[in-house]
Amino acid sequence: MSDIIQLLPDHVANQIAAGEVVQRPASVVKELMENAIDANATEIKLIIKDAGKTLVQVIDNGKGMSVTDARLSFERHATSKIRAAEDLFQLSTKGFRGEALASIAAIAHVELKTKQDTDDLGTVLVIEGSEVKSQEVSVTPTGTSVSVKHLFFNIPARRNFLKSDTVELRHITDEFHRVALAHPNIAFAFYHNGSDLFNVPQENYRQRVVHIFGTKTNEKLVPVEEETEVLKISGFVGKPEFSKKTKSEQYFFVNQRFIKSPYLNHAIKSAYEGLLKDGYHPSYFLNLTVDPKSIDINIHPTKTEIKFDDEHTLYAILRSAVKHSLGQFNIAPVLDFEQQSNFNTPYEYKDKSASTPAIEVDRSFNPFADDGSFSSSNQKRSSQNSGFKSAPSASWESMYVGLESKGNNSQSDFSQVTFESDTKNESIFSDSSIETTKTTFQLQQKYIVSTLKSGMLIIDQNRAHQRILYENFLKHITIQEATSQQLLFPLQLHYTPSETKIIEDLKTNLEHTGFVFSELNNNEITITGVPVGVPESEVSIILEQLISDVENDVPDTNFSTSDLLAKSMAKSLAIKNGQSLNSTEQEHMVNSLFACKEPNVSPTNRPTFITMAVDDIEKKFM
Ligand code: ADP
Ligand code: MG
Repeated sequence: MSDIIQLLPDHVANQIAAGEVVQRPASVVKELMENAIDANATEIKLIIKDAGKTLVQVIDNGKGMSVTDARLSFERHATSKIRAAEDLFQLSTKGFRGEALASIAAIAHVELKTKQDTDDLGTVLVIEGSEVKSQEVSVTPTGTSVSVKHLFFNIPARRNFLKSDTVELRHITDEFHRVALAHPNIAFAFYHNGSDLFNVPQENYRQRVVHIFGTKTNEKLVPVEEETEVLKISGFVGKPEFSKKTKSEQYFFVNQRFIKSPYLNHAIKSAYEGLLKDGYHPSYFLNLTVDPKSIDINIHPTKTEIKFDDEHTLYAILRSAVKHSLGQFNIAPVLDFEQQSNFNTPYEYKDKSASTPAIEVDRSFNPFADDGSFSSSNQKRSSQNSGFKSAPSASWESMYVGLESKGNNSQSDFSQVTFESDTKNESIFSDSSIETTKTTFQLQQKYIVSTLKSGMLIIDQNRAHQRILYENFLKHITIQEATSQQLLFPLQLHYTPSETKIIEDLKTNLEHTGFVFSELNNNEITITGVPVGVPESEVSIILEQLISDVENDVPDTNFSTSDLLAKSMAKSLAIKNGQSLNSTEQEHMVNSLFACKEPNVSPTNRPTFITMAVDDIEKKFM
């Protein structure tokens, strides 16, 4: 048989390489900005149109390229940054693979303008799909400008795969943040569709962090400084009370390169041990400086993962440095768990007039009642001791009142499950104390257990409550009927311009849930009204969660902002696991759940309850 192996033509090889290097417009932003930094620029401008789908342009005032270099820079494996394999182990530049420009030019229309300081005239080069269209001499300022248009023009599958502008812009902003944070000594500007998203001068690190994350960040920052033989650490961690529900403010830079490291992240988390509430993440902005010889950056084309020679030592030093800083700045005593736990206080509505439950429940069922351990008097005593229970929680109450009326007149799909009626099976528990015992009980402060005619029902309290709240919010948003409660003092929240943009996009829907905004500008939002039932203390958490939901996992198909908003708010406000509920609250939860349109699943499609048939239980006794 004849030989069949051939070398791929360059433009095909470049397209394949592009698949690794360029996933989305944000990848182009990263590569171009890194090139500008490697060119020693002190000012870098990023110009974006339509979330990078139409244009990504980076303009720098760096050293520029000669006529020949301009042409060569688009060849694959063409780089000025390393000469020999040894150089890989002492990198001081961002780039070194010589792939980025070749890859980008293979899948887009690229225009390069560049001039060196020593030259009078510069070069303009146009390349489309690896094909040089023109190269001319031109008047252009010192430095380099690269514009990338029509990304993926020749790979429709990739183009179609791009997410909504909001999501793509979010990725771009993330890259921009990473690069801008790693280089406070460089001035950056960022424009999207003509509007100015960021404009930061050369400044110190603290100022850079504050510029990017908002003025409010300043008071959250605790400096971390440590210098040992193997590692220098400098930067900031966030005070524990400002920890976030999202991981959006976690930044490690190793030798000024943003990296992801679950291992080092763990070191920091463990330094916060005992200071963070479950599900909250510390903020950090840390620069690690290590000997370039001790790391390997070349393990991934996008270079966000690196290998350290001695991870264990770094872990230990990092952990103790962060711990030390938190201790030194007297962070621990400021924490007030008592107060924080109030956020989660569930509804208490014993003072309200009771309404008929939608579903009759077996009131005499109580598997533990024979030894009295679950009697109502015990329950009362323990609830008085618990910090959760004694806290006032009017807000939850009102939220539930709304649901209740809904529960009464809406038709439940839950017809296949029948609850046992009150009147039966008094034979086992005939003693009078049983009258007052609960029909449901809570397991591990996580599940609500109740009886069914055919067996047992176990409800996940958090998911169930999410379902209930979700349907309620969705209803309000759809029929636009929500009432809001006016705040005594307007609430001012600070966000980055891109975060504000997300809120702005959702403003109308948010107003339908009951939010009232009096001001929405670049990085400040003023709220004068919130949905009835939402405690003021929860507002920033809700919005933060919402922003992160929009940023992170907006599915583009069936994307509906009202749905997302309802889901996000339900997630923020649903009672958590670990929350004890009294019997009235438990029953109410059961009833409200089964008054929902889709009681079986949480808003994120996970089961809200399971049932266990008597048959199954019987089998276990065999
Ligand atoms: P790498 O950065 O890995 O070397 P690239 O494909 O990103 O590979 O760039 C190729 C070469 O083009 C670089 O090594 C550099 O010499 C030159 N270059 C790219 N961008 C710029 C820029 N903004 N200013 C000056 N030179 C640049
Ligand atoms: Mg590069």
